[in-house]
Amino acid sequence: MPATLFSDIEYLKGVGKARGEKYRKLGITDPYELIYHIPRDYLDFRAYVPIQQAVLNEYNVLKLTISHKLPPQRIKGGLVICKAAATDGIDTILVVVYNNVYAFHAMNEGETYYMYGKVTGNFTRKEISSPVYIKASENVLIQPIYRLTQGLSANMIRTNMRQALDLLSREPIETLPQDILDRYELCPLVPALENIHFPVSETAAEEARRRLAFDELLKLQLGMSMLKTRSRKNTAYKMDSSVGIDEFLSGLPFELTEGQSRAANEIIADMCRSVPMNRLLQGDVGSGKTAVAAAACYFAAKNGIQSALMAPTEILAIQHHRTLSEFLTPFGIQVGLLTGSLTQKKKNLLREQIASGELQVIVGTHAIIQKDVEYKSLGLVITDEQHRFGVEQRAALAEKGDSPHRLVMSATPIPRTLALIIYGDLDISAITQLPKGRKPIKTHAVTGKLRHRAFGFVRDRLDEGRQAYVVCPMIEDSDSDLFAVKTYAENAAQGDLKGYTTALLHGRMRAAEKEKVMKEFRDGKIQVLICTTVVEVGVDVPNAAVMVIENAERFGLSQLHQLRGRVGRGEYESTCILITDNLSEDCVKRMKIISSTSDGFRISEEDLKMRGPGDFFGSAQHGLPPLKIADIACNMELMNKAQTCAKDILADDPELSKPQHRTLKMDTLRLFSKDIIG
Ligand code: ADP
Ligand code: MG
Repeated sequence: MPATLFSDIEYLKGVGKARGEKYRKLGITDPYELIYHIPRDYLDFRAYVPIQQAVLNEYNVLKLTISHKLPPQRIKGGLVICKAAATDGIDTILVVVYNNVYAFHAMNEGETYYMYGKVTGNFTRKEISSPVYIKASENVLIQPIYRLTQGLSANMIRTNMRQALDLLSREPIETLPQDILDRYELCPLVPALENIHFPVSETAAEEARRRLAFDELLKLQLGMSMLKTRSRKNTAYKMDSSVGIDEFLSGLPFELTEGQSRAANEIIADMCRSVPMNRLLQGDVGSGKTAVAAAACYFAAKNGIQSALMAPTEILAIQHHRTLSEFLTPFGIQVGLLTGSLTQKKKNLLREQIASGELQVIVGTHAIIQKDVEYKSLGLVITDEQHRFGVEQRAALAEKGDSPHRLVMSATPIPRTLALIIYGDLDISAITQLPKGRKPIKTHAVTGKLRHRAFGFVRDRLDEGRQAYVVCPMIEDSDSDLFAVKTYAENAAQGDLKGYTTALLHGRMRAAEKEKVMKEFRDGKIQVLICTTVVEVGVDVPNAAVMVIENAERFGLSQLHQLRGRVGRGEYESTCILITDNLSEDCVKRMKIISSTSDGFRISEEDLKMRGPGDFFGSAQHGLPPLKIADIACNMELMNKAQTCAKDILADDPELSKPQHRTLKMDTLRLFSKDIIG
């Protein structure tokens, strides 16, 4: 059976069952999908050098004629070494191929090739080992380099790619109408796909990238919009504005800041309308978003309506449950906690209480939006740090309830363009100031040489009664030199933190254990928490006033800011010590920025500037489908264009059901289903 663009990848000539399986591991199921396996780099054979000028012990491109092939040698362990003498017309070199008879046989005596490989030896005798090569007569001199998987050689992928592209040229596809291509100055799809793999020039490769990145961002926006974050229906939960929250406010242990009050009022006004609220509450770490959420829940409960608050981690869910209970139970509002790790019996009981309306506020992880949880009257859904949830969970959330009001809370101050992609079409409330009396967190970046001194400082604070966090990037020791919490805790107990009570906290601990540790830390029974970034979001222990971050180079600016936000939450002067031995320009710059400002918006801007939105998409911090092209090639300008384009298309054809949008719709669904299937 001849392969087509959409037949199983197995049917492509020379692929078959076994290799088909390997391709599937890369997420490639058909030739069309293969075409979207984008090269991670290119090899430019035009830049060859004479043998004489080859840099020893480095990779070089040479132009060589094979003068004489020697018979293959078999050595122990079943290894085969093939050698051939070759020349560039002036000097000679030995071409050595390890364990790849096939590649060796394909080389012919008397033929000239471009070869790319590591050159070793000395002035008189040189070798190039296991080179990637193409015939000098070939007209495509820029060759793609792909991410490999075991059992798929670079040449194999290239050959299959050629075949897939030939299929494409026989069944050309275009996802965008001509007027859009013209308006956004995009090249047509077929040449873009051809040139992303086998570019005739750098310019062609760049144009191809731009087109494909645009497509990807467009699909992302279309897909997110089709998840229908803003329901067009009216809500069944229009609330009564005459229900006040004064009683709640007077019960709080503090007075709301101006920003908090404004946000609470905006939220309440939204919930009194017949269109469902869709609002993002943005506020830097420590700005007090939870109290605003509590006000919203209070208002809903007084209107006889249930609220659900969903947190990305169990630790955070537990903490929110505590806070909300504290704020709300005095007014007779019952708050329940539903997480994945409860016993079946407890879960069943909670489900009953949720269904009967006995619980008015439900806090939990994504367990609270599962199908088997039925609410009596779910009218307000709040998500904390929603960008951490995956597409699937968002879809489930969007379907839950009868067009409830939605509030999303985030400490990540992302630009509006990105916010719209991540959260869909929404309104924004921003809390711009921190509660009164907060002292700014002092941040110092030091190298490992000062670790011992840094811990002297930590011990002083502990002796004054404060608590501390020590953050390491890894859980267990690995090949990397990165610090891991387990070993770190053992060493610290013998060394710098001898005599102090410490405990471990990381993502692989059981929920009950985590909870126990957090409780003891909160109660002051543990002085130092040695943890991974599980504490990054939301954890709130005001007495913790020192944080040490090891391998600080491993963390992005925004992440450091989030982590640091765990301290400076109370009346005490707080300090964050970043330890890194990485003195690269990039790292030093990051350390300077984070030490010099505590303004989350500025930090996020700098972060975006340094890393580009591409890195943002590459970092999988947002729960969007993985992008392949845009993560290396996109910029804000392109993103804005894709956004405008998506809006125009959806205004004209909201379900993408018109014939000219067929392929676009198929591609969009493909991008999203990938993530959902996992
Ligand atoms: P975040 O916005 O990072 O989620 P939280 O809601 O966890 O912040 O609040 C951080 C801390 O500030 C909590 O201990 C909370 O009780 C306290 N807090 C919140 N609002 C105020 C306020 N208006 N005045 C004083 N403290 C406040
Ligand atoms: Mg929070």
